[in-house]
Amino acid sequence: MEKILVLTHVDESGAALTRASLESIAAGVEFAEAISATLVIGILGANATAAAQPVAGAASRVLFVSGEAFAQPRYASDAAACEAMCRAAEATIVFAPESSRFARVVPGVAYRLGGFADTHITALSKGDSLAATRWFYRQRVEAVLQRTTRPWLLLLEGGTREPWAAKAEPVQPEEIAVTLPVLRTNVVGIQAPKQDEQTIRPEAKILLVAGAGWTKKQADGQVHSVEAEQLILGFLHSTDASLGSSKSLADQSGEDQQVLKFMTHMNQIGQTGATPRHAKGLSTCCHGEEPHVVGWRFINDRRAISLDANCGWARGKADVVYVADAFKVMPKVNALLAAKK
Ligand SMILES: Cc1cc2nc3c(=O)[nH]c(=O)nc-3n(C[C@H](O)[C@H](O)[C@H](O)COP(=O)(O)OP(=O)(O)OC[C@H]3O[C@@H](n4cnc5c(N)ncnc54)[C@H](O)[C@@H]3O)c2cc1C
Repeated sequence: MEKILVLTHVDESGAALTRASLESIAAGVEFAEAISATLVIGILGANATAAAQPVAGAASRVLFVSGEAFAQPRYASDAAACEAMCRAAEATIVFAPESSRFARVVPGVAYRLGGFADTHITALSKGDSLAATRWFYRQRVEAVLQRTTRPWLLLLEGGTREPWAAKAEPVQPEEIAVTLPVLRTNVVGIQAPKQDEQTIRPEAKILLVAGAGWTKKQADGQVHSVEAEQLILGFLHSTDASLGSSKSLADQSGEDQQVLKFMTHMNQIGQTGATPRHAKGLSTCCHGEEPHVVGWRFINDRRAISLDANCGWARGKADVVYVADAFKVMPKVNALLAAKK
């Protein structure tokens, strides 16, 4: 009989589990039942008991590893904690969220346990046994994996299922002792852009994509990149949308051209960029060529504003295309959003 362990960790507050952790728990509950496996939940954090209530009702056994050493993500302490919980649960299958914290340690934990790790799992299914789906080659090839090696550790992509909703039941977590190795790494602080400077927001409902048109000469023969910046940032501030870019726009920063200062290659969407997941997407001043649109694979509702009635979006790649000047449309959209706020 398989034994499934779901590894989870706390968020930055230290007192709650991450959403991706709760999604992994939901996967654990679903597949423990589907393949008649036992289910154990493991929680990692400085004060993991404080974060235990949201797992209520998911599993009869909840393990935790707690203490100051686990306040910060660090390979040596996190790997030791995950290994200890896997051994305590005698897990044959391990689900864990594909967070930066776990993506760093889970392959190493699999090595220590003599098992196998698969990453970027987007779906699970049940045939004769558990099967895990992931994409290869920039989301072009979909593979369904089954393995006989145990333990099998699977890092599950966030945003792929509803998070576990706790039941009104008491949780009695069981502490697992960890023998820590010598810790040579200490996290002394985090340097990150302020929230409103951070334009890549994987959790956002909307993706706004800016294309090279924003920095091209407009009908008056002039470039209006300062206005473009204000319009784009105005939309982001009103909606908390995530910002994407076409390759042409992202590449301009290296070509000494008029650029949008907040745009980097990290924003690029497409074949050689990212493939984010958002409920809705709005493309502005972008042509919608295939190498760009392939990055929209997981955007459910697609809209585009382009001057060109013959652009790629108009050829079946968007649900709605507004053939219009984005410099005229976006101020109105922003005004409506501001009025709504
Ligand atoms: C191997 C390979 C990989 C690639 N990978 C990627 C990738 O990952 N991502 C990516 O984006 N591209 C990628 N590309 C490039 C891609 O083919 C396109 O060249 C690129 O997406 C074009 O960017 P764009 O639409 O912003 O610019 P343009 O093609 O210059 O289009 C600008 C658009 O803006 C419109 N416009 C101008 N002014 C306005 C206005 N005022 N209002 C409304 N619309 C306006 C124009 O009508 C035009 O349609 C790749 C290409 C190759 C060969």
